[in-house]
Amino acid sequence: MNRSVDLRHFLDERGALPPVDHPAHPHAVYYTQIVADATSCLDDPPSIACRCRSARRPCTGLLVTFPDPDDLAAIGWYCPVCHDGGTITGWQETLWDGTAVVGRS
Ligand SMILES: [Zn+2]
Repeated sequence: MNRSVDLRHFLDERGALPPVDHPAHPHAVYYTQIVADATSCLDDPPSIACRCRSARRPCTGLLVTFPDPDDLAAIGWYCPVCHDGGTITGWQETLWDGTAVVGRS
């Protein structure tokens, strides 16, 4: 399954996460984690747990994140266990855009 999302659709008008009780909140947290991982933790091992569930069991996979080779404005993510994955656009200059942070290693 390949989902394509625009991160801005999950954020409020200030570019922040929606309230915890908002239906978009869990998705916003998930996608912002992926963006932060892909843009600022290039050398780190995968750390984001896959949220996919099959047969009511949570997937044990850790997401692989990467710049989309076909579209440099998009971030790709992929679970090697359940093969869930997708792309995220609209992440530039959000709070989770690690490429915008100067002087951070
Ligand atoms: Zn998975």
